[in-house]
Amino acid sequence: MQKLNKIYEGKAKIIYQTDQPDLVIQYFKDDATAFDATKRGTINSKGICNNKISAEIFKVLEKNNIPTHFVKLLDERSMLVKRVEIVPIEVTMRNITAGGISKLLGIDEGIILDNPVLEYHYKNDSLHDPLFNEYHIYALKLATARELEAIKDLSFKINTVLIDFFGKRDLDLVDFKLEFGRYKNKIVLADEISPDTCRFWEKGTKKKLDKDRFRRDLGDVEGAYQEVLKRVLSGK
Ligand code: 5GP
Repeated sequence: MQKLNKIYEGKAKIIYQTDQPDLVIQYFKDDATAFDATKRGTINSKGICNNKISAEIFKVLEKNNIPTHFVKLLDERSMLVKRVEIVPIEVTMRNITAGGISKLLGIDEGIILDNPVLEYHYKNDSLHDPLFNEYHIYALKLATARELEAIKDLSFKINTVLIDFFGKRDLDLVDFKLEFGRYKNKIVLADEISPDTCRFWEKGTKKKLDKDRFRRDLGDVEGAYQEVLKRVLSGK
């Protein structure tokens, strides 16, 4: 597999073309940003951890009949993925209140939700990824009703699989963000699933093992990412 031109560089990842038109390389950087990139930093080895964690999770999801863009791990910081057209919607799934929902609704963090809460955010940095609903999505023609149905259905299924997967590793899956893409007329899970895009609280201690350690200056950010990787690979 030949790594060719850079197609896109985001805050945490770079996408490279390959010699196959349907496949691209997703490269994970150590760069970290928060609060619309007003806070910037580097988390040592974050790219390595997120690449390995995401790969493992994509494999688990594929085993559970969730289509993803993942093809295979290439090296410590890179995975081969299907070249998708990203749907500019960020889906947030919440099981326990934290972050955005606590701020939006003025409620404490740490409340266990009776049912998962699904939110759509418009993936648009200059507008700060605003919360919106399916009527806005149709008005902007971001997805068809069939596509959105698939996105919603997959998001709830992914939540069920991941609550179980992380629960067995003594981690509560508080919330997470998903992005989907179109690949050969089908909706597939894209982007990454990692401590950058999920909140993980250690069961019992409620210790935060995710990007909130960076966002909130809680210290030992690198240790948290390593700990999640260790548990993900523990094969429980
Ligand atoms: P919140 O809306 O509470 O800030 O985020 C909810 C969850 O989605 C958190 O786990 C957070 O990490 C993830 N999330 C939401 N938006 C983004 C984003 O733009 N980038 C990343 N990396 N994660 C996000």
